[in-house]
Amino acid sequence: MPATARQLAESLAARELTSMDALQRSFDAIDAHEGDIGAFLSTTDRDLLRSQAEGIDQARARGDTLPRFAGVPIAVKDNIAVQGERLTCGSRMLEHYRSPFDATVVGRLKDHQLLLLGKTNMDEFGFGSSTENSAFHRTANPWNKNFVPGGTSGGSAAAVAAGYCPWTLGSDTGGSVRQPASFCGIAGLRPTYGRVSRYGLVAYCSSMDTVGPLANDCSDLLELLKIIQGVDPFDATSSFRSPSAPGASPTRLGVLEELFAPPCTPDVVHGREVIEKAASACGWRLSSFKLDYASEALAAYYIIASVEAASNLARYDGVRYGYRAAEGSSWHDLVTRSRSEAFGDEAQRRILLGTFAASAGYTDKYYETACRARRLIHNAYMRLLDTCDVLVAPISPSPAWRLGEKASDPMEMYLSDVLSVSVPLAGLPAVAIPSHLSAEGLPIGVQLIGKPHSDESLLELAALISKHVGFQNVPRHHAASNGL
Ligand code: GLN
Repeated sequence: MPATARQLAESLAARELTSMDALQRSFDAIDAHEGDIGAFLSTTDRDLLRSQAEGIDQARARGDTLPRFAGVPIAVKDNIAVQGERLTCGSRMLEHYRSPFDATVVGRLKDHQLLLLGKTNMDEFGFGSSTENSAFHRTANPWNKNFVPGGTSGGSAAAVAAGYCPWTLGSDTGGSVRQPASFCGIAGLRPTYGRVSRYGLVAYCSSMDTVGPLANDCSDLLELLKIIQGVDPFDATSSFRSPSAPGASPTRLGVLEELFAPPCTPDVVHGREVIEKAASACGWRLSSFKLDYASEALAAYYIIASVEAASNLARYDGVRYGYRAAEGSSWHDLVTRSRSEAFGDEAQRRILLGTFAASAGYTDKYYETACRARRLIHNAYMRLLDTCDVLVAPISPSPAWRLGEKASDPMEMYLSDVLSVSVPLAGLPAVAIPSHLSAEGLPIGVQLIGKPHSDESLLELAALISKHVGFQNVPRHHAASNGL
């Protein structure tokens, strides 16, 4: 089992380890594996990081009171702003852009004196499910380099699975934290919409975008959530609600039965058995349910997400910031050339889809119908969560696929999201936990879905059930190189 952030923090506090040692371990893991994995788009200057670690070690030696996780390394997805660092969103459009400010979540990481190793790879602007839509390079799955790490936070998931750092930040609009976490055998939280500030997260679909933590276990997710969550005056949708109280005892687990069925592969369907066994061992009460309108979720999601994406991407006009074409005979020509040259195929596809679905005469047929479906899905979940504390469902119909396998078929890629998109439509929190390995030896996870603002108790329940599941999240090549 790789070191968790809590174990690292304990060793640092007990002075068994210095921050400099912890940092060196990260550098060693990166130097050993990054050539094969490609999790980062940019890395922080190592001398700068060393001087930060040294400062923390000196403060600790003086006996200063430090934040619990001071000196623990972290990495963040490249759609989250870090002052002075690159912020590419995996796109040529922002290839040379550096952020002039910190995202609220990054400010909080800095307040807690975490060491920011770098920015992780992602599908362009969050469009994709495998990190293959990055304009720069692909990321490999640390469990098997021929497979995708999932996406769009594939770099963040791979960085944890490869042992670069105990935790990272990603973002989840339609599954981008949960799906890569499950493909890489780690845990990942999509928080309740509004629980974590979006200020400084580059907008994809503002009504569903969330920043979420990825880590080796659920207790680390909880610690990182506590650092980043909370109201932010810079994000009007950040929430003032206090955490919802833990549910009944014994915990009532609802199995979304018909989702553990084809098109899921038999490997994925097996997750149900694993979780039911672990839940029984925890003494939880189990029942099975059907989620009404689940079959409408994918279409509703892709319409709403594309409409909002087309609107949010309108700001990249080549005039104020981002890529600008070398020439243009008029303002219109310059904008057209800049956008055509700098946006990748998938980004252009989303802009076309979204613009069409929101165009005059079509909004009722597409966008407004999708919004009505969204409300029905939300209500269906809320009805189930009246009688259950937690629901369980698969995350993806299959484990990780081979690099290139779906890259030229956008519809196949969209279909792979069929199980992850209903949660964001409903604004609910969901945590991915690893459950077992496929026949090919690739990790598979399940998602536990909770009531709005139950994030903390959801993570506590997820930590408990994970203990009974007993998944060993050490990728083979990593275990081998550590002599495990
Ligand atoms: N795969 C989904 C999409 O392309 C979700 C991506 C995400 O959560 N950013 O929209």
